[in-house]
Amino acid sequence: MTTYNFRATVASPPRIGPNRELKHALESHWAGNTSGPTPWAVARELNAAYAEQLRAAGLDSVPWLGISLYDQMLDMTAALGVLPARFTTPDTYASVEQLLAACFATARGTAEHPAAAMTKWFDTNYHYIVPELESEVSFSAHPELLLDGIAGPEFRPVLIGPYTFLRLARRVAEGQAPRPLTPAELSDLLPSLTQAYVELIGALAATGVRWIQLDEPALMLDVPIEHNDAIIAAYETLAGATEVRLLVATYFGDGNSAVELLQRTPVAGIAVDLVTSAADPVPAWDGTKLLVAGVIDGRNVWRTDLRRAKEQLEALQQRGPIAVSTSCSLLHVPYSLEPETALDAELRRWLAFGASKIDEVGTLARLLGGTARPEDQALVELSARVWEERRTSPRIHNEQVRDRVRGVTEADRRRTPFDQRPRPELPVLPTTTIGSFPQTKEIRSARARLRQGVISAAEYDSQMVAEVRAVIRAQEELGLDVLVHGEPERNDMVQYFSEQLDGYAATDYGWVQSYGSRCVRPPILYGDVSRPAPMTVRWFEVAQRATEKPVKGMLTGPVTMLAWSFVRDDQPLSETADQVALALRDEVADLEAAGARFIQVDEPAIRELLPLRVADQPAYLAWATGAFRLATSGVADSTQIHTHMCYSQFAELIDTILDLDADVTSIESSRAGMGVLQALAQHNFHLGIGPGIWDIHSPRVPSEAEIEHLLTQAVRHVDPALLWVNPDCGLKTRGWAETTASLQNLVAAAHEVRATITA
Ligand code: GLN
Ligand code: ZN
Repeated sequence: MTTYNFRATVASPPRIGPNRELKHALESHWAGNTSGPTPWAVARELNAAYAEQLRAAGLDSVPWLGISLYDQMLDMTAALGVLPARFTTPDTYASVEQLLAACFATARGTAEHPAAAMTKWFDTNYHYIVPELESEVSFSAHPELLLDGIAGPEFRPVLIGPYTFLRLARRVAEGQAPRPLTPAELSDLLPSLTQAYVELIGALAATGVRWIQLDEPALMLDVPIEHNDAIIAAYETLAGATEVRLLVATYFGDGNSAVELLQRTPVAGIAVDLVTSAADPVPAWDGTKLLVAGVIDGRNVWRTDLRRAKEQLEALQQRGPIAVSTSCSLLHVPYSLEPETALDAELRRWLAFGASKIDEVGTLARLLGGTARPEDQALVELSARVWEERRTSPRIHNEQVRDRVRGVTEADRRRTPFDQRPRPELPVLPTTTIGSFPQTKEIRSARARLRQGVISAAEYDSQMVAEVRAVIRAQEELGLDVLVHGEPERNDMVQYFSEQLDGYAATDYGWVQSYGSRCVRPPILYGDVSRPAPMTVRWFEVAQRATEKPVKGMLTGPVTMLAWSFVRDDQPLSETADQVALALRDEVADLEAAGARFIQVDEPAIRELLPLRVADQPAYLAWATGAFRLATSGVADSTQIHTHMCYSQFAELIDTILDLDADVTSIESSRAGMGVLQALAQHNFHLGIGPGIWDIHSPRVPSEAEIEHLLTQAVRHVDPALLWVNPDCGLKTRGWAETTASLQNLVAAAHEVRATITA
């Protein structure tokens, strides 16, 4: 009997290309360049090559996104016919080119209309385009882009599942802020959405594929009980309408409860993430459906312990049919280790980027199927050796660091209570900025020329010193109260510190897609972290020597240092966080000794690592805030600790911010219409707060009157003695013209409101 079950696959492919081919094609296309190949031609080639790579490694099911140029959620929004009305015409869905143009407009905005919102994909650093649903939404099926390139029954189209689509969509209405659907709205919409999926699946099935995958990572969130029946009904309808086997993929969490739910539906397979889940994998699985076992970590870069994985898979195989896979899409890791020739040989041996992970899947499948080749055995032995090496290598283990972490006490994480700490002598409503000033062409080109060896380190350094002095002068002229050095020397707020810390390594080509054509190169935190020498003190001193006004020291916090890196998987994250925190604590002490009276420790990513299920969140927040306080609590009572975070769902994190105990927290609030002020008032917020009053994400210059209006509102909700006046994020992406104009207005507005308060 043919079951058509497959044995080896990966959850989903990356799209940007091993040499960022798609990025380059997209940017050239957007720039109006017509000489090179189109992005869709490039995507087709990359897709075909990737399929070939999977086949060559022995994988017998090929996940397929079709022409996916920007983001998979955006692809689904287009396939379901619900791109925002402001970007579509009656012809949009008639041609592939027009459809792609509407997708780009949705993602990037146009001169007339703002882009759709973009936000982080679950707890990753990848961003998706948020679907906007109007109240009268009607779905239709447009499978053309998904169908593109399917070339055999082993191709497995991958769609975002209907439940996840609706959980991530937002309801939009004239004059109202977009909001998630209520549970009732979601249950109401699911049946009509499911009908559109039936059509999409029908069109895909007609190509002769055997399996279609529906990604449902939203099942890893808290699923309200009233959704269960709607989900079951949807999957009964979908599976009942087609001969093709449906695979529901879950990832980013323990899939057991999803298995429990989906087993009650006629879907043929369920994919689970066995990297993030507990020791006893999927107890709920009854062995009736294909279990696609994600034993290879799709979002981290370590070589798999193949012996352990094999044992786990063998145990599962006793219980029913399984296939070997990655825990999630490989879009979260770099393509290949091959070009990383500058990496230390030992560290390199420990790593597995995308291509190696594909090979690991192939090897495990052959081991399970009894068709292992000599090279598979060799890979298993290598993996065992590597794991032994990692357990004992002096490269990772630094006893001094470990002793220090073990010696940390609660007192090390505590300052004198806020109301007993002396306040600095500053005018009411002091003005400041978040840290960075424009990263000009000159700054970036100096960095490029340093890398290429065109200028010496000394030349680069003196250019940065000149820039810092210029930034100080500009702030003095603007009349700001607490100045910053402007961060010209920092390429990236995490990379800059990772390059100066032991236990961290950088890659040369390890790009992963962050959003659209934008890629990042996360550093690899591989061992015990320590700080061989001060990292920022010199820049603080250069700045402080150039002015009488106080300069704020500027550091990246421990949680953000983890969130935007590949982290070690051989110890709890909380322990790694404390190691980074201690390194930062020393830096804070050195800044203080150099005369800094204000030190800002940014934590823009503290929300990103928040566990998906509410029940898991308190434990995370306890160690995350504990690490921040460990980094910042060593200072004198009179030294002000500032922090900054940028996201708009701030209201739900107020208790966390209180726990950080920073003297001042600057936040993003201008887009949320200062709604956060009410929340502050309700929580009796008693620490310093700087609600961002200039949305720096847009090049628009806010008028003085506008800023004054926002400030007046702020003064009404928050004790003016606690209020700071600042933009809502760093200025590195802005130009000088709009920066100067906006800060002029900001300072003038602050002076106006200040006068009314002191009067
Ligand atoms: N200090 C950083 C800057 O101003 C903060 C950046 C951020 O919030 N992501 O650029
Ligand atoms: Zn920010």
